[in-house]
Amino acid sequence: MADKSRKGKSMDCIFCKIVSGEIPSEKVYESDKVIAFKDINPMAPVHILIIPKEHIGGVDELNESNAGIVKDIMLVAKHLAESFNLENGWRIVSNVGEDGGQTVRHLHFHLLGGKKLSVELA
Ligand code: 5GP
Repeated sequence: MADKSRKGKSMDCIFCKIVSGEIPSEKVYESDKVIAFKDINPMAPVHILIIPKEHIGGVDELNESNAGIVKDIMLVAKHLAESFNLENGWRIVSNVGEDGGQTVRHLHFHLLGGKKLSVELA
C-alpha cells in the first residue's frame, strides 16, 4: 500500500515528521515551503539540512512541476551561510540514492561550513 497519507506528506518519512513537529529538531529557518534544521550528527561546525516541506524523495524525483523548490532552497542556503558567518566559504551537497550515500529519502541539501572542508569527491 502506498505510504502517502495526504498530498505532499509521507507517513514513514522522518523528515516529514520533523516538518510536522512530531520529531523535534533545532530549526534555524522556516518559510511556507522550506525548513532548515541542524543535522543530528554534524560533520562540520556548521551542518544544516535544508528541505522542502513537501515530500520529494530526492533530486531524482525532481521534475518540471516541483523543481522550483530548489531555487528557494539555494536562496535559503545563501541566507543561512551569511547568518552563520561562513564568509570564508561553504558547501552545499545532496546525496542521491544508495550509491550516492542518501540515507533519508526526503530531498535535502546539506549546508556545511565553519572549517576547511575536504575536497575529496568520492
Ligand atoms: P543523507 O545521508 O541522506 O545524505 O543525510 C541524512 C542526514 O540526516 C544525515 O546527515 C543524518 O545525520 C541526518 N539525520 C538523520 N536523522 C535525523 C534526525 O532525526 N534529526 C536530524 N536533525 N538529523 C537527522
